[in-house]
Amino acid sequence: MRKQFAIILAAVGILCGCQKKETSFQYNVDKFYDLEILRYNVPEFESLTLQQKQLVYCLSEAALWGRDILFDQNGRYNLRIRRALEALYLNYPYEKDTEEFAAFERYLKRVWFSNGIHHHYSEDKFLPEFGEEWFVKACEQAGVEYDAAILPVMFDPAVMPKRTTAQDGVDLVACSAGNYYGEGVTQAEAEAWYAAHKDNRPEPLWIGLNSQLVKNEKGEIEERVYKVGGLYGPALEKVVGWLNEALQYAENDEQRTVIKYLIEFNETGNLQAFNDYCIAWVKDLESRVDFVNGFTETYSDPLGITGTWESMVNFKDMAATKRTQLISDNAQWFEDHSTTDPKYKKEEVKGVTAKVITAAILAGDCYPATPIGINLPNANWIRKEYGSKSVTIDNLMHAYNEAAKGNGFNEEFMIDDEIRAIYEQYGAMCGDLHTDLHECVGHGSGKLMPGVTKDALKEHASTIEEARADLFGLYYLADDKLVELGLLPNKEAYKAGYYQQMMNGLMTQLVRIEPGKDIEEAHMRNRQLIANWCYEHANGEMEIIERDCKHYLQINDYEGVRRLYGELLAEIQRITSEGDYAAAKEMVETYAVKVNQDLHKEILERYRKLNLAPYKGFVNPVYNLVRNKNGEVTDVTIDFTEGYIEQHLRYSKEYSPLPDVN
Ligand code: ZN
Repeated sequence: MRKQFAIILAAVGILCGCQKKETSFQYNVDKFYDLEILRYNVPEFESLTLQQKQLVYCLSEAALWGRDILFDQNGRYNLRIRRALEALYLNYPYEKDTEEFAAFERYLKRVWFSNGIHHHYSEDKFLPEFGEEWFVKACEQAGVEYDAAILPVMFDPAVMPKRTTAQDGVDLVACSAGNYYGEGVTQAEAEAWYAAHKDNRPEPLWIGLNSQLVKNEKGEIEERVYKVGGLYGPALEKVVGWLNEALQYAENDEQRTVIKYLIEFNETGNLQAFNDYCIAWVKDLESRVDFVNGFTETYSDPLGITGTWESMVNFKDMAATKRTQLISDNAQWFEDHSTTDPKYKKEEVKGVTAKVITAAILAGDCYPATPIGINLPNANWIRKEYGSKSVTIDNLMHAYNEAAKGNGFNEEFMIDDEIRAIYEQYGAMCGDLHTDLHECVGHGSGKLMPGVTKDALKEHASTIEEARADLFGLYYLADDKLVELGLLPNKEAYKAGYYQQMMNGLMTQLVRIEPGKDIEEAHMRNRQLIANWCYEHANGEMEIIERDCKHYLQINDYEGVRRLYGELLAEIQRITSEGDYAAAKEMVETYAVKVNQDLHKEILERYRKLNLAPYKGFVNPVYNLVRNKNGEVTDVTIDFTEGYIEQHLRYSKEYSPLPDVN
């Protein structure tokens, strides 16, 4: 349900600013290969009560104890490899100032980042830049013992080349290195097992969510359940211990119920307890502190059934929640004043309050690389019957923004100092506000004509819907109403958002597309559709100019751009309300899909020269209990000084309960 990884934003430049950095907080931590490690701040932690802080502390411990599970799910040799590498790193007997040791350190940092030996995003195995011989000899000298079976897994490109394969025509289970299925299990066998055990009731159990399928000595498929006393038992026992500890700090009965069901699920593996937990979690809207902990997303299982372990602890961002509340309170005003035909407007519109949260700890599949939003639970019947929680994580977004300052992106692509200065000052603010308008009022605006169904626009439905919500936000970004509501400081600030949208849609988002390819992803299509349509319909409002063989967007008339956004919004709303499939298809095919090849080549070249790491991840803060002389906890403090290597070595030392082979 969610894979909003930050790569998307980082690469399209939404997050690339060149504002002056805040001096007090160090966001950039480390950079290697295509990865950059950042640090995130945890604003408003001080505003939590002691009880809430202690709850965060316990849930953070519960999060960190699951780290080994993910390594093992990502590949059955990963724990052995990680431990051998760490032992060698700590006991390396030679001079460290060598090319080989540097390569070795980079490899280890990469293994930590990927929670295994496959790239976290491409899922291809990455190979060490040091030789097998070097490694074997160094281990021997250092007295590091390891299972020789890890050598081909590390060094032979043909062994376990892909973590999760989606290739047509191959055995998806046998050809994936992930450890969701034991050795020798085939796709056909796994599918037959799932088919035989599928729960077809209206409120089904998610059979297979928390287990590995293996072959026993008789060649039969057997399920090994993740639970205390079962597979990953030693780690889940620790998780349960800290969840039990957390119970006494729960904010209310709803939250206590959530934690109790999660404990039961981890202790018994009973999937009914998991359903109960999900439903209780969706219902708990009052608590300030919230968390995810367990087997959640299923992308890494080649058959999409078993959940990958992850955890994130967070709490409500009060300032941002107030902002979205204000927008949502004015939903009817926005609906009434948009450029759409009155007959497509809702008589009574309800705004949605977007929940904005602050992450306090990231773990498992949320660490070090992390999503910027959460949209759970994944079971469709629970979503339909009980709803879901959708949140954006503000402090991580903020860290991306801060870390990108001064990386050269805006200097390269924005046309002049004037717009850069406006963007420096208001870019992040406009980005937040545009997202809020998109989510809180954009999607909920407008209505369908009688007889028109939601799926009338078929394969173009999501592109058109995203364009509709984006345009609604863009149109209002320039409205005096926002200044009146105190959401923007003046009537010039919106220009940052307009320039960014047009530049991104026309040019810079192309850095994510391979040469010669079309645009396929709905959000990218929507952004190009809007920018291209406006550009093609412009009459002096904007132009693309060439300077020293480089192309730049110049906006001459921002009010005029707003008129264009408004005009397109009216048309997109008409297409949606009427279910006009032919017009949707025409609109998407004309403006959203094809890429200007020459411009694309130029953009890629300019982007490459900036040498930016496309993938980002984080180190966590460290939480410490403060006690008085009677041993009672009086406060929880946060420390932000831990480095990347230090953190992983410490996690491996302090939170590593699983055996090498599980
Ligand atoms: Zn949307």
